[in-house]
Amino acid sequence: MSDSDSQRRFIFERTNVRGIITHLDNSWRTMLEGRNYPPVIRDLLGQAATAICLLSATLKSNSSLTLQIQGGHPVNLLVMQVNESQHFRGMAEWQGELKPADLNELCDGGQLVITIEKDSGERYQSIIDMHQESLAKALHSYFQQSEQLPTDLWLATNDDHAVGMLLQALPKRTEDDDPDAWNRTCMLANTLTDEELLDVPTEELLHRLYHEEDVRLYEATPVAFRCHCSHQRVADNLRSLGEDEINEILKEQETIVINCGFCQQEYQFDRVDAAQLFTDTTSPDIPPTQH
Ligand SMILES: [Zn+2]
Repeated sequence: MSDSDSQRRFIFERTNVRGIITHLDNSWRTMLEGRNYPPVIRDLLGQAATAICLLSATLKSNSSLTLQIQGGHPVNLLVMQVNESQHFRGMAEWQGELKPADLNELCDGGQLVITIEKDSGERYQSIIDMHQESLAKALHSYFQQSEQLPTDLWLATNDDHAVGMLLQALPKRTEDDDPDAWNRTCMLANTLTDEELLDVPTEELLHRLYHEEDVRLYEATPVAFRCHCSHQRVADNLRSLGEDEINEILKEQETIVINCGFCQQEYQFDRVDAAQLFTDTTSPDIPPTQH
């Protein structure tokens, strides 16, 4: 069974520990296409993509997740999102010179925020301390310090694949649950190399690490790169700028061209399109006429 572009859950029988492995392959290459991200940025994006897919798989309800790093230097913006269908998208912007460095140095002075948005519209935000060597370590220490379930992550990325594993300890279920399972399974996971994580199929990897444990591995569920931008959404954004602002821009140029930051799709609005933004009776701002 192929692991490509999928997530697989597993549990350690008679313990309170569960895990997930995410493989991003085609989806990862599609996200990188035409972007020429330097390796440092590519790695950070890959870690963010696998981390957010793993975290979203731990949530019970249908939720979308956004991981955002903002206001730092040299990386001044990184956004990674995944929705309830496990469709992810992401982008990054930076200024100045990049060299291999810790997370802390790459995003110096910035803020890392994870937002969970539930179907019901409820939103939860967590601010995560970035004074760590990597995104996985920052997330691990966040889970250690907050009153959430103990959780650890291992993330690895190259040009072709981004792979991650997450372990999480649930509240103890029965007295028979092995009390040492969490420490033991994490210690073994800490022996993983990036190459193993990237190259070894899930079943074999779990066997290598945990052949002395009773692991139950579940079926794979798909993960895909997909951007949910649309002409309508871009139009809504332009409309929110206001008619005066749009007319001001159109004095300088014939057409407003907007490129989606996530998928590079181009949206064009000429003067006729722009005028329609403010006369369109299907606009949510103007209720339809009642008869
Ligand atoms: Zn897009």
